[in-house]
Amino acid sequence: MNIHEYQAKGILEKYGVTIQKGIVASTPEEATEAAKKLNAETGTEWYVLKAQIHAGGRGKGKVKETDSNGVVLAKSLDEVAPKSKAILGGTLVTHQTGEEGKLVSKLLVAEDVYYPGENEPKEYYVGILLDRAKGCNVIMASTEGGVDIEDVAENTPEKIFKEWIDPRVGLQGFQARKVAFKLGLEGEAFKNMVKFIHSLYAAYDATDSSMFEINPVLKTSDNKILAVDAKVDIDDSALYRHKDIAEMRDKSEEDPAEVEASESGLNYVKLDGDVGCMVNGAGLAMATMDIIKLSGGEPANFLDVGGSANAQTVEAGFRIITKDPNVKAILINIFGGIVRCDRVAKGVVEAYKNIDGLDLPIIVRLQGTNAEEGAKIIQESGLKVTSAIVLKDAAERVKEALA
Ligand code: GDP
Ligand code: MN
Repeated sequence: MNIHEYQAKGILEKYGVTIQKGIVASTPEEATEAAKKLNAETGTEWYVLKAQIHAGGRGKGKVKETDSNGVVLAKSLDEVAPKSKAILGGTLVTHQTGEEGKLVSKLLVAEDVYYPGENEPKEYYVGILLDRAKGCNVIMASTEGGVDIEDVAENTPEKIFKEWIDPRVGLQGFQARKVAFKLGLEGEAFKNMVKFIHSLYAAYDATDSSMFEINPVLKTSDNKILAVDAKVDIDDSALYRHKDIAEMRDKSEEDPAEVEASESGLNYVKLDGDVGCMVNGAGLAMATMDIIKLSGGEPANFLDVGGSANAQTVEAGFRIITKDPNVKAILINIFGGIVRCDRVAKGVVEAYKNIDGLDLPIIVRLQGTNAEEGAKIIQESGLKVTSAIVLKDAAERVKEALA
């Protein structure tokens, strides 16, 4: 599960990670209040206004309606309200949102931390993620932090170095020092970075996260190390252990069909093809997607209805699949192990009748307990539903439906 930058920074701060301070606002008036409060707390007279959406690239991104960037600097209190107004309620398009962009309903008003001083402020990149192949967490860091990190990863990947952490022993002192050393830091900044890495890893570990991306991490002109941005992805399977984090979920940022699916207990991932599929079991779902490809179609989704498919889950599945305008045919592939095929068949027929305006060819392949009875129910329903018992037949029917 992804969360907003302001929420991620709240979590980081709890674990002792030093952050760029900010206050979240929903209106230009609230933004001005937030700026005043920050001025009282930190003495800052410049403010950064940051659109809160679940996508990166905000600094370079543009608000469609006003042409404002998604991250802007306000160099006085008077600038805060008009510049906030140009972002709030707008549609922010970045290289990660797609052309349609994302509605901005919250803004993080943050202190400006790029103030001049003894040294130039310098941006770094620090990420932590799970390396599944190695069964370890990995810290990735680079001196080339900032808005162009994607180019660095693409063109000069040697500028990003990695330090693997054995989860059984955790982050060792020498490893945190190694990261700070490789970032070329010295003195106070070195010490602060070591502390930063330790706190960051502690936060990652304790929250069951699968990804932290802090870009940029800033070395301020007076050698503080601060998280200026924070992208945090929490492992969904661990959310039950973190009720406080689970409550941070912002459903308006997620695909509506995926939200509906998770509420119905279905495992759904939208894809770009034209054949909707509904399957019980993840392995069978993968095989079914292969079959669809072999028959000349492209799967429109991955949908696993789980082991206990019944009329309600089938109906919920239909509703979700048919919301996708690209779908030209639906393939249902159910193996009747625990669930009996005749029950699923009844479910399909009922669901078909219940959904207004459903007019897509549906191919149902039922195999296992009571498969023959199931096929009979489908054939006698008089609906635009075809039955197939053998997978190869099902693939042929899909091909016919697409022709
Ligand atoms: P992203 O574009 O979505 O990754 O958003 P970031 O939070 O990383 O901000 C984008 C850029 O805004 C950063 O790389 C900085 O260059 C700039 N920025 C962020 N905070 C400040 C600040 O306090 N002062 C100044 N001058 N620039 C900032
Ligand atoms: Mn960033």
